[in-house]
Amino acid sequence: MSKRPQRRKMRRARLNAGDAELIRRALEVRRNAHAPYSRFAVGAAVRCADGTIFTGCNVENASYGATVCAERNAIAAAVAAGKRDFLALAIATVNAPPAAPCGLCRQVISEFSPDLRLLLCNPRGDIMRTSLGRLLPLQFSRRDL
Ligand SMILES: [Zn+2]
Repeated sequence: MSKRPQRRKMRRARLNAGDAELIRRALEVRRNAHAPYSRFAVGAAVRCADGTIFTGCNVENASYGATVCAERNAIAAAVAAGKRDFLALAIATVNAPPAAPCGLCRQVISEFSPDLRLLLCNPRGDIMRTSLGRLLPLQFSRRDL
């Protein structure tokens, strides 16, 4: 028996057409990532309550702190279009298993959707389903101000 912990097998989740489209859009926009420093390209696609989809990719900067993640760019694009109600967010990285959003993005997502459904994916077809509530418990919000 191996001493190393068994890596949990990734389930190739069955997707409805809406989730499949959201993942496809996240993978597609990932190709536009500007990530010359980290080489860690990320794409994100958020579905709004009215069915519209907004996308974002990470945009890095030589002044590293000016970098903006794909998730925040997708949320900002939706908000700029007047959308505030979100149903799901797909996040595409090359990682296996797919990477989860950073802490800053979790906080930004929580501003609008404290328990947003998240689909973490990669180009290999791996998909992890989770929710913001699971990734960010005890959220700080406007109710705390
Ligand atoms: Zn982030």
